[in-house]
Amino acid sequence: MEKIKMTTPLVEMDGDEMTRILWKMIKDELLNPFIDLKTEYYDLGLERRNETDDQVTFDSANATKKYGVAVKCATITPNAARMTEYDLKQMWKSPNGTIRAILDGTVFRTPITVKGIEPCVRNWKKPITIARHAYGDVYKASEMKIPGPGKCELVYTAEDGTETRELIHEFEGAGIIQGQHNLQGSIESFARSCFNYALDTKQDLWFATKDTISKKYDHTFKDIFQDIYDQEYDAKFKEAGIEYFYTLIDDAVARIMKAEGGFIWACKNYDGDVMSDMVSSAFGSLAMMTSVLVSPEGYYEYEAAHGTVQRHYYKHLKGEETSTNSVATIFAWTGALRKRGELDNLPELSRFADKLEQACLSTIEAGKMTKDLALITTLDKPQVLNSEEFIKAVREELEGLL
Ligand code: NAP
Ligand code: MG
Repeated sequence: MEKIKMTTPLVEMDGDEMTRILWKMIKDELLNPFIDLKTEYYDLGLERRNETDDQVTFDSANATKKYGVAVKCATITPNAARMTEYDLKQMWKSPNGTIRAILDGTVFRTPITVKGIEPCVRNWKKPITIARHAYGDVYKASEMKIPGPGKCELVYTAEDGTETRELIHEFEGAGIIQGQHNLQGSIESFARSCFNYALDTKQDLWFATKDTISKKYDHTFKDIFQDIYDQEYDAKFKEAGIEYFYTLIDDAVARIMKAEGGFIWACKNYDGDVMSDMVSSAFGSLAMMTSVLVSPEGYYEYEAAHGTVQRHYYKHLKGEETSTNSVATIFAWTGALRKRGELDNLPELSRFADKLEQACLSTIEAGKMTKDLALITTLDKPQVLNSEEFIKAVREELEGLL
């Protein structure tokens, strides 16, 4: 069989630990034999980030702006323990944070659903995608402990020196306060990313906040979404046969439990953080969750939602067998390849991505899976494979499909 050709390179961001091991296996077994893989390679492994003073992360993000599509392996976000483990010059920032700041995107997380791994919520038949606004609110808040009686106010000092004040509370005893902010521009980008992604994936978009209580802050989110929708997206949504609707977050939570799935749920930063853990665990496993960063300009960066699976890597280093699930990392590649196929008009490349995904699902449905899934599957007597055996089983399935 002739290998599938590509025209534009994918930005390939390699990473750390167990996922770096899987990355190579996936390329060797599932991609290189079938595709004339064109990538511009950036090594975001922690050693290389340290050597380049993290320049490699910036370069990879800028390359994503140039080419439009990236695929990323999980990376270590350094903490104190990693400082000594890798003898780091500095506690480098999270690569995901750096990339997100440069691309100004929104992260969409979608569970990979497969027969045999059943959602805890019985009526969920299709995946629910969470879109999390990744800037501001409680994540950039200032806080204070109030030791005793006194007055707390919000004070805005304009450039010309005029002040606007709003009383927070007259304390009669000890307490706590917190100041949050967000930016018009960031909320607009968030809205556009969500509307574009809904059009891209032909799914309804839900958005919910607590605007009945937060009449200025949350209400501004609601208004910005509605204005942008009315001015730029209403006709496009109608043409695509999809719907945008806003509701109170309480109502959204209640409806989600009764829904079938198959839509996007846009969440403010905190809601998205918390709800994505709920949705992913209710669908089965963090190892079966994909993640894509979509910028308002239409740049895409695909990855797995899980981390570098450090515990498995240490076992691997000791020569012990691992059973690490590579599905989300494979789906990061298929997401990126399919998008490249769409943008470059290479239907064969997109079809390959579909078939590779199908091969992963059929492998699991045939009862062959890694340990994390074997522990939760409803299938009888699953066959537990190690990391490499699973990828080889997917290859066998893929060869049958091609
Ligand atoms: P993690 O790598 O997601 O792993 C946490 C646990 O979840 C694992 O120990 C494993 O449980 C299970 N797990 C996750 N992915 C799995 C898979 N593919 N197959 C099987 N089991 C899987 O999170 P972490 O241990 O908190 O973080 C490790 C490193 O990843 C950290 O340095 C962190 O900074 C980084 N991280 C990176 C990203 C990213 O690049 N996007 C995201 C999150 C974390 P068992 O051990 O019980 O088998
Ligand atoms: Mg969280």
